[in-house]
Amino acid sequence: MGEIDRTTGYWRPELETSDPQARQEYLDGKVAEIVAHAYAHAPGFKAKMDSVGAQPGDVTKVADLARLPITEKSDLVKIQQADVPFGGLMAGDMSHVRRIYVSPGPIYEPGDRAYADDRWTQALYAGGFRPGDIAQVTFNFNLVPFAFNLDESLNRLGCVSIPAGVGNTELQVQIMKDLQVQGYLGTPSFLAALADKAEALGYDLHKDLNLQVAFVAAEMLPESLRTSLQERLGMVIRQSYGTAELNCLSFECQHMGGMHLAQDCVVEVMDPQSGQPVEPGEVGEVVATIFDKTYPLIRLGTGDLTSLTYDTCACGRTAPKMTGVLGRVDQVTKVRGMFVHPSGVQQVAAKFPEVKMYQLVVTREANQDVMTLACELADPSADREMLRSGLEKEIKEVLRVKGQVNFQEPGSLPEGCKVIDDRRKWD
Ligand SMILES: [Zn+2]
Repeated sequence: MGEIDRTTGYWRPELETSDPQARQEYLDGKVAEIVAHAYAHAPGFKAKMDSVGAQPGDVTKVADLARLPITEKSDLVKIQQADVPFGGLMAGDMSHVRRIYVSPGPIYEPGDRAYADDRWTQALYAGGFRPGDIAQVTFNFNLVPFAFNLDESLNRLGCVSIPAGVGNTELQVQIMKDLQVQGYLGTPSFLAALADKAEALGYDLHKDLNLQVAFVAAEMLPESLRTSLQERLGMVIRQSYGTAELNCLSFECQHMGGMHLAQDCVVEVMDPQSGQPVEPGEVGEVVATIFDKTYPLIRLGTGDLTSLTYDTCACGRTAPKMTGVLGRVDQVTKVRGMFVHPSGVQQVAAKFPEVKMYQLVVTREANQDVMTLACELADPSADREMLRSGLEKEIKEVLRVKGQVNFQEPGSLPEGCKVIDDRRKWD
C-alpha cells in the first residue's frame, strides 16, 4: 500500500477553488435565501429587520447585509433571557433539534438534527485528515457543541472518531498507542501534555505512536510550539478558527500563512467603532453569517479581531486568509485612527528586557491623541536615551502609531496595572 496523500485536494473543490466572482454570486444567492427564511420563521430576526425598516427583498446579496444590525455574541445571554430559550432566533421547531447545547453564559444553542454544515470537514481535509484515519477527539463533550460537531465532521469525512474528551492523559496515551491513532483533535497544550506523558511512560514518540495529523483550535498556537511538537511527534499540525455557534470560519492549509475563510458562510471584517467594513488588510471584528436553516445566525459579531490577506496561495484555494485572532474588541483602543491592542504593547515591551514594568497611557492634547509608554527600568543606570529611541522605533513599527516614552521612578506603576490606560475624556 502506498503512502496516503495528505497534502493535496479539497473537500469542496468547486467552492474552495472557485473564481472569486462565481463565489460571490453563489453567496449572494445563499444570503437572499437565508434572510427570507429567517424572516419568515425566526421572530427574533424578523423583529430585528423590522427595527431598521428592512424587508427580505432588501437583502438579496452579501453587500446588502450591511443594512442589518450586527448581533454581538456577548449580547446573546441577554437576548435569550428576554425570550427563553433561543431569543426568537431559531427558525425551525423542536422536531428539527437533536441536542440543546449549553455554552458558558449560559448560552443555549439548538443543534440541528441533520448537521448539514461541512465547514469543519473542509478544515480537517485541508489539515491532512483522510478517510480511514482513526482520530482522537480531546475537546470537551460535556454540554458544549464543538466536540460533537467535530465528531460529525469526522464521520462525514470517513474517519473513525474516538470521543476521548478532556483529561485522563495516561489512558489517552494508551489509546493512541493501542489503536495506532493517526489524528489528534484538541488544544496544542494538551497535545504537548500527552507527548510528555508518553515519554514519561517510556514510549518512543515516533516508533510507539503513529500520529500523522493534528487539528488544533481554541488556543493560540505559537510557531515555536508548533515546530517543536511537529518534530517531537513526527506529525503535521494545522489550526482552525470558529466559535461554538458559528462553527468553522477559517482554517490553515498545508501552506499556512494564515487561515483560509471556510466556504458556505459569509465573513465580514468590521470596524467596531464605525460599524463599517474595514479597508482590505486592516484590523476589525469578525462578523459572520451562516446558512443553517434551523439556527440561521445572520451577522453575529464574534468580538474577535482579525485582518484578511488576499495573497494567492499555492494550495489552489482562492479564499482570502484570516491572519489570526489579533485580540478582542472589548480590549482594543483606537489611537489616531489605528487600533491598539494590549498584545501589541506586550510585544513591544518583550523586546526590551531592561523594561521591568510598563503601561501605555493614551491622552488627548490640543485635539490630538497622544500615546505615551510609561516604563520602569529593571536597572536604573541603563542608557535611557538609547532605550528611548529603540522603544519609540518599535512602537511605531508594531503599533503603527507614533508614541513617546516616559521613564518613571520604581514603584510608580501599580503591580498588575492594566496594559492600556485610556485617559481621554469625550464629551
Ligand atoms: Zn492555501
